[in-house]
Amino acid sequence: MLGKKWVNCYSRNMENCIFCKIIAGEIPCTKVYEDDVSFAFLDINPINLGHTLLIPKDHHENLHEIPENLLSRLMPPLKKLANAIKESVRADGINIGQNNGSAAGQVVYHYHVHIIPRFSGDGLKHWPGKPYLLDEAAEIAEKIKSHLS
Ligand code: 5GP
Ligand code: ZN
Repeated sequence: MLGKKWVNCYSRNMENCIFCKIIAGEIPCTKVYEDDVSFAFLDINPINLGHTLLIPKDHHENLHEIPENLLSRLMPPLKKLANAIKESVRADGINIGQNNGSAAGQVVYHYHVHIIPRFSGDGLKHWPGKPYLLDEAAEIAEKIKSHLS
């Protein structure tokens, strides 16, 4: 009998991680930036030309796993890359995207930030929002605050 199975070809462990292999030079990529802790390369299936992925060189699954000091080291190159991408493709805007967990669309389990150039009329839509009902907003805010410490 077939149980629930991992169905995509991307591994969660470091040994078979496609992004670790890219950093190690075992899988080719189109690199645009590198420093001592971070690495950036073009997404193989770009939303728009110039769509870039910024990753830490160390393997961490996602936002929940990556240490805060490493996360903060990714912010300067993120800004630098966003500026460079915007100018190089003359984008009208930039989306920064980051998926955590399969329900959120994460496919590769090595923390990565999408830097996506956007153009007026490129056809991409923002996700739809829906208003809160009655006391929902206050209740969820209290729940979030209780988990912050
Ligand atoms: P996620 O959905 O996990 O946030 O996004 C993973 C991204 O990695 C996707 O946009 C996908 O196109 C990109 N990607 C997956 N495999 C490769 C690869 O081998 N090389 C490159 N350059 N990008 C990849
Ligand atoms: Zn990895």
